[in-house]
Amino acid sequence: MTQQRGQGVDGGLGTGVLQAIARMSSTRANYWVSHVTDFLVGFVLLGASFWLDHSQPLLSALVFLLGLFIFSFIEYAFHRWLFHGAVPLFERGHTIHHEQPLGYDSLPFFFPPAVVMLLAAALALAMPAALALLLSGAIALGYALYGFSHLVIHRRGRFNHPLARKWAAVHHVHHHHPDKNYGVTSPLWDFLLGTWYVSKSKVRAR
Ligand SMILES: [Zn+2]
Ligand SMILES: [Zn+2]
Repeated sequence: MTQQRGQGVDGGLGTGVLQAIARMSSTRANYWVSHVTDFLVGFVLLGASFWLDHSQPLLSALVFLLGLFIFSFIEYAFHRWLFHGAVPLFERGHTIHHEQPLGYDSLPFFFPPAVVMLLAAALALAMPAALALLLSGAIALGYALYGFSHLVIHRRGRFNHPLARKWAAVHHVHHHHPDKNYGVTSPLWDFLLGTWYVSKSKVRAR
């Protein structure tokens, strides 16, 4: 299912380009290609960091974990305050996802890699290049894993393992209670910031 957007006929090259990007971002091809490019940019950044400097494996492992941890908060914050926030640009696309969880609307495939490359460049101004590439690569990989998790949750159907079923159910609950369970890959920040969904039966049992 696709969502046609930006069909206005007002002229201008900029408007035309934006409309073309909006149409492209709702296609099935963009959806699948973006999952590949998200992983690709993560691996390229991590590979480049390793190539530049792999003399301190412990420090590298810590920075890598720090990047994943930072991304877990970005995932929560963007979902809570942007996708369910007051900025129409972000909120509109996410509303489409809530209405059509199996739809193909997503960001243009080149947008997240471009943001991550800018982040890497900005970080390289403040720290050694290898560390900047490692940190931004870990954040990029976190984003790719988030996108893949979300895809699997909605398209896999029923999971065999009870833990996997519980993990997927947490996000399905979010689709019914949009002010709860913002974390997709993990419930960490929902626990910490009070948005973890507690069912009414559990509340009564307390
Ligand atoms: Zn979803
Ligand atoms: Zn949502």
